[in-house]
Amino acid sequence: MTETSELPMIPAARPVIGVEERAAVDRVLASGMVAQGPEVAAFEEEFAAVLVGGRTCVAVNSGTSGLHLGLLAAGIGAGDEVIVPSFTFAATANAVALTGATPVFADISADTFNLDPASVEAAVSEATAAVMPVHLYGHPADMDGLGAVAAEHGLQLFEDAAQAHGATYQGAPVGSFGVFGMFSLYPTKNMTSGEGGMVSCADEDIARGVRLLRNQGMERQYANEVVGLNNRMTDIHAAIGRVQLGKVWGWTQQRRANAAWLDEALAGVVVTPPVREGCTHVYHQYTVRVEGASAAERDRVVQALREEHRVGCGVYYPTPNHQLVSLARFAPARELPVTARAAAEVISLPVHPSLSEGDLERVAAAVHAVVGAGG
Ligand SMILES: *Cc1c(COP(=O)(O)O)cnc(C)c1O
Repeated sequence: MTETSELPMIPAARPVIGVEERAAVDRVLASGMVAQGPEVAAFEEEFAAVLVGGRTCVAVNSGTSGLHLGLLAAGIGAGDEVIVPSFTFAATANAVALTGATPVFADISADTFNLDPASVEAAVSEATAAVMPVHLYGHPADMDGLGAVAAEHGLQLFEDAAQAHGATYQGAPVGSFGVFGMFSLYPTKNMTSGEGGMVSCADEDIARGVRLLRNQGMERQYANEVVGLNNRMTDIHAAIGRVQLGKVWGWTQQRRANAAWLDEALAGVVVTPPVREGCTHVYHQYTVRVEGASAAERDRVVQALREEHRVGCGVYYPTPNHQLVSLARFAPARELPVTARAAAEVISLPVHPSLSEGDLERVAAAVHAVVGAGG
């Protein structure tokens, strides 16, 4: 048995739930009123003020619901095409497909892993209604480039900001650019409400649309105006989210400090994640490339990091969406070469705010040992 096999596992992610969150939940439970109510309303206002420059926010029961309802409120449906990246979590394209519209996959830029405006431009057709970039791993998408393509072709712009709470592009927060922007509040995201999503809305029409759709199409009880769902957030979840909102900035600073440390420690061994000028990165994931690796070689690196060095790490995402059984019917005729290479080469290393200095040293030493030795 090697010495390292006795080390504790460094988790890839660790949600931080404190006594304040537990007290907040207890307060709601004690009130006896647990469904959507005053906690949700307060969470929406506070989230808007802290994270999206005051834009109207509407809370829902998951990030996926937020995308779905945002798309529906923006009028997306059968006959429309929405251009999305293939290199993302399947929820992005799932939400488009669930409206009856067609997700059209475009390629990404090699540095940030985000939608490439030139590839988006090449994917525009008569049916294109919108483009929905993802701010993947917490790095903002190229909003100027994508905004120019959208303006040129009269497309709506939406944002999947599930992984990017607090990231900024040219000084403005992500989630403040699109007709709507969605933030996930799943436990492994940069902040959580247990499950949940927040939709940041460009105007009151979109906000009203999302509010109606999350509540069976009702503003007034039993006066249903549109066909809707029950995608409401509970006051229990909102109470957790409100506490986390007060902590997310500090955690983001710690994520950035951890990333800066890893950048220096891993330079020359793997391709560390660059940050584009005018952007701030919130490091939902710290994702490196094992340049030139095949998927099998990369998978061996991941296995060695986990099993020999006890470093939790992930591959986000090993299969591009257009190659998933569920979404392959939407696969484009064109190849997506940058997406294919990213899916083979990426590894996300621990960067979460609970890492100790010793943990960071172990992560760096492990990567040096496994990749520096030739993988
Ligand atoms: C997490 C995530 C979602 C979905 O959010 P849920 O809260 O899990 O429904 C959507 N898009 C991306 C890019 C995500 O990472």
